[in-house]
Amino acid sequence: MIHSYDVVIVGAGGAGLRAAVEIPKEYSCAVISKVFPPRSHTGTAQGGVCAALSNMEEDSWENHVFDTVKGSDYLGDQDSIEVMCKDAIRAIIELEHMGMPFSRNEEGKIAQRYFGGHTKPADQNDPYGKRIPVKRSCYSADRTGHVMLHTLFENTIKNQVTFFSEYFVTDLLMENGVCKGVVAFDIANLEVHIFKAKAVMFATGGYGRVFRITSNAHVGTGDGMALVYNAGLPLEDMEFFQFHPTGLWKLGILVSEAARGEGGILKNKDGERFMARYAPTVMDLAPRDMVSRSIINEIREGRGIRGSDGTDYVLLDVSHLGKEVIDEKLPEITGFARTYLGVEPTKEPIPIQPTAHYAMGGIPTNVNCEVLLNEKGDIVKGLYAAGECACVSVHGANRLGTNSLLDLVVFGRRGGKAISEYLKTAKFLEVDESAAKKTNEFISWLFSSNGNEKISDIRTELQNAMMENCGVFRTEEGLKKMIDKLEELKKRYRNISLQDKSKVFNTELVEAIELENLLKNAEATVYGAYQRQESRGAHSREDFPKRDDNSWMKHTFAFQKFESSPELKYKPVVVTKYQPMERKY
Ligand SMILES: Cc1cc2nc3c(=O)[nH]c(=O)nc-3n(C[C@H](O)[C@H](O)[C@H](O)COP(=O)(O)OP(=O)(O)OC[C@H]3O[C@@H](n4cnc5c(N)ncnc54)[C@H](O)[C@@H]3O)c2cc1C
Repeated sequence: MIHSYDVVIVGAGGAGLRAAVEIPKEYSCAVISKVFPPRSHTGTAQGGVCAALSNMEEDSWENHVFDTVKGSDYLGDQDSIEVMCKDAIRAIIELEHMGMPFSRNEEGKIAQRYFGGHTKPADQNDPYGKRIPVKRSCYSADRTGHVMLHTLFENTIKNQVTFFSEYFVTDLLMENGVCKGVVAFDIANLEVHIFKAKAVMFATGGYGRVFRITSNAHVGTGDGMALVYNAGLPLEDMEFFQFHPTGLWKLGILVSEAARGEGGILKNKDGERFMARYAPTVMDLAPRDMVSRSIINEIREGRGIRGSDGTDYVLLDVSHLGKEVIDEKLPEITGFARTYLGVEPTKEPIPIQPTAHYAMGGIPTNVNCEVLLNEKGDIVKGLYAAGECACVSVHGANRLGTNSLLDLVVFGRRGGKAISEYLKTAKFLEVDESAAKKTNEFISWLFSSNGNEKISDIRTELQNAMMENCGVFRTEEGLKKMIDKLEELKKRYRNISLQDKSKVFNTELVEAIELENLLKNAEATVYGAYQRQESRGAHSREDFPKRDDNSWMKHTFAFQKFESSPELKYKPVVVTKYQPMERKY
């Protein structure tokens, strides 16, 4: 079946829905999502979305820019960061006007709280000297993403967007460097649908499921990134993957940074507030890369707590905040600790460990969400990307908490605007039934392949190996091991077989395709990490412990080469005002 829409948006998280809201009603707009829209990962975001509103104390968007640049370990493009932080204030007020129910302060204004790495100068006359935490994160208790996603969903319905829920996109259609649509199948019955479009936007989220311990939902398998990579287009900065310091021990389920924003403290086995040693000024509110490394360091040096299964953890203590604050401001996350670990956070500390959380890298775009064809900045006509699957790059080597929800609404809107402009002159390109060939062949292969490899085995081995060799700390030896493992797993993938041969809601078939996508994402990540001989933000090489601005102030662009290793090219970082400095907190 062939459908025609002026614009097709793949992904119904915050980025995709914010873009859809922006498309004028005279254009037809379809949103395709492999899950029912409000089940997208954005709905699980807890802590907040930041903007220098100055509702609680004096702040400025320039402070926000500086923090984001510094937090990115000077890999973020400073022109893009300026665009995002300056637009943040308008974006939050707009969400309020759309109906998003923010928590309020005593004056009835949007409430704001502390979050890691968000600071202001201690002395106005010394803007880049000592900095102290500032309340910049706007929130709705600890379910900010949930209310944001529902608000946006309601607004897209008002805008008469057509939804294709539980449709899985498998192919990107291109002709002479111009995008002309996508191919998807209906998960309910495996029927293949062709979507002809003048413009396509990917808003497909992250790929945290490539790691064993992750905060990401099961759907976070990097499908959009893999599809773009398969089309011969580059992926940018994939070696930068953020580990959030506080995942529930063994499970990885997130305990939002809001817990520390509200005054929660990290402790080792001796009850010591160990962050005082690593980040004396901001302590538990240091950026995530630093806190995650500090936790692993405590564990390595024997100050972690050994669990019954032989794995280690440290403690997050919120008990001193009192039941009232916990119940009002952190109800969800303390509920998780009760349900999944049987811990009562009002009385005892929560066992935590770092959890794979966020992809800083992704599909390269400019500030108008146009996808880049190469490291020179040429663009692909008709193809856009926004949200976690994209790399603008505003987060550089390490994202600050609450900057992602902001990224979704700022760049989702900009992408929607750019598409609306493009649609004024864009035309449909020819698409016929043959466009479905690749997807049909792949599905047939999955049904007929009768090798002896199980999808779940390959996935588990990939996730364990990534954790061990490409996690918080990396070395040449570990990355080399990971490359060998990945090549082995790619070969074994050709030998899989499905146990479930039915055509109705065949989730095993979906998982098989997602596994292939995870392998692609892992490839770009690992090869980029192997090549980058420095430590910057979330990419921490024990064999190259220093940041190397002379050789590595540049973005990695990985191009898939199918039968050999990916080709890596590089693009310089855009520096406007802020020259790299040592990153201390
Ligand atoms: C537990 C958790 C808490 C977080 N808390 C915060 C926070 O407090 N503040 C903050 O700023 N950030 C937070 N983040 C990060 C932030 O929430 C995410 O980066 C962001 O929500 C991603 O949004 P997105 O729109 O890019 O994609 P998502 O919300 O992940 O949505 C992806 C969409 O793409 C669709 N899709 C994917 N592949 C396909 C396919 N093949 N076919 C069809 N559809 C497809 C999915 O169905 C889905 O609709 C958190 C993340 C997690 C995991």
